[in-house]
Amino acid sequence: MTMSITTFADAIVFDASSSDPFEGSVVVEGDRITDVVPGPSTPSTLGRVIRMRGMTLLPGLIDAHVHAAAVEADIQQQHHTLFDSEVAVLTARSLTDMLDRGFTAVRDAGGADAGFRRLIERGAIAGPRLLVSGRPLSQTGGHGDSRRATEHLDPAVSAPAIGMTHCIADGPDEVRRAAREEFRKGADQIKVMAGGGVMSPTDRLESVQYSLEELSAAVSAAAAAGTYVLAHAYTPDAIEVCVAAGVRSIEHGNLLDERAAKLMADAGMYLVPTLVTYEKLYELGTGFGIPAANLDKLGSIIEAGLNSLRIAQAAGVRIGSGSDLLGPMRIFQGQEIGLQAQALGAAAAIVAATKTNAELLGIDAETGTIEVGKHADLIAVDGDPLTDPGLLGQPERLQIVMHDGRMHIDRTGSVD
Ligand SMILES: [Zn+2]
Repeated sequence: MTMSITTFADAIVFDASSSDPFEGSVVVEGDRITDVVPGPSTPSTLGRVIRMRGMTLLPGLIDAHVHAAAVEADIQQQHHTLFDSEVAVLTARSLTDMLDRGFTAVRDAGGADAGFRRLIERGAIAGPRLLVSGRPLSQTGGHGDSRRATEHLDPAVSAPAIGMTHCIADGPDEVRRAAREEFRKGADQIKVMAGGGVMSPTDRLESVQYSLEELSAAVSAAAAAGTYVLAHAYTPDAIEVCVAAGVRSIEHGNLLDERAAKLMADAGMYLVPTLVTYEKLYELGTGFGIPAANLDKLGSIIEAGLNSLRIAQAAGVRIGSGSDLLGPMRIFQGQEIGLQAQALGAAAAIVAATKTNAELLGIDAETGTIEVGKHADLIAVDGDPLTDPGLLGQPERLQIVMHDGRMHIDRTGSVD
C-alpha cells in the first residue's frame, strides 16, 4: 500500500517548539509529519502540493477543559428535559464540531464517558483525540452536588445516567473507591471538585472542598492507574490543598495569588485558565436561561481571571488552555486563545493551547508541535494569528484542518 503524501508549501510555519515563525514547507506521509523544510524552496515530492501563501500553519489546537456532554447551557436542568439518546447524539455531534474548529485533541473535564472515545477511535464519528474524565468526584454539597437545598434524594438516584453527571464521595475510602470505579469504566484521568463553583446550587464560591486526605486518596488511586488528577479550584486555600495532595493541574484558578503560584511552580503543576466561559456566561447566560443565583457568583472571578495569568506567568507556572464552555456557547471555543493573549502575548497563548496542553495531557510524544515524527495534526489559518490571535476564534478563517494525516477541512481550493 502506498502512503499518501501531502506537501504544505510556502507557508508561514509556527511549530510551537521554537518561538519564532518561519517561512517553509511541511511534508505529511500517511499519518505522520515526515519533513519540515525552512526556506522558500519547495521540497521535491511526488505528493499533492498545497500552496499556502498568506496562510499560517500551526499544530492542531488542544483544549484541556471541555464538556462535550454539556449539550445545554443550563447543565443542572438538561437531564430533566432531554432523553439520554438526545444527550448522546448531541454530545457526539459536539465533538465533531470541535474538530471543525481546529481542535485536534481535547480533554473532557467531566461528563463524557469512554464510549465517546471509542466512537472516535473506531471511526463511527469524526472527532478530536479525546481523553475522558468520566464522572467528576465531589463532596456532599460540593460543586458536583446538583441538588438544591430543598431536595433530599440520594444523589446517586437523582443523577443522570449520561451527560453532566457526578459522583458524590466523602472520606478517603469512598473517594478511592469512586476513583477506581471511574478507571474501571475507562477514564483517562480523574477530575475532582476541590472548591466552590458557579453552576452549583448550594456551595459558596470561596469554599474549600475535600480534605488533604481525600484528595490524596484520589491522587494515589490515579497514580496506581498510571495517570493523574485534575482539580477544579479558584482560591489560594483550595489550590494549596491540591498542591499538597499531588494534583497535576488546577482548572480555572482565577483567584490565584503569588503564594499559591509559587507553590504550583515549585511542584511543577499546570494551570488551565478558562477565561472565555466566564466572559460568555456574563454576556449570554441570562438569555440561555441560567439562573441569576448562579450568575451572581461570577462577579469576583471574572475580574480576576486575566490577572491570575500574569501572576502564574511571573511565577513560572506551566500554563495550559481550556474553554469550559457550556451548550451553544461552545461555538466560542477558539476565543480562549485571544483572551489569554491579552495577558501572555499571542505566541505564548498559542503554545499554551498546543505544546503545553499536549505535555499536560501526556500526549506530547504524538502531537502538540510541528516536528518530524509526530502525528500530522495541523491547521492553517488565513492570516497571521501571531499578530491577531483572535483569528483562532473564527472557525471560518481556518483553511486546513488535518487530523492524524486525514484531511478534515480543506478550503484552499487547491487541486492535484
Ligand atoms: Zn469545567
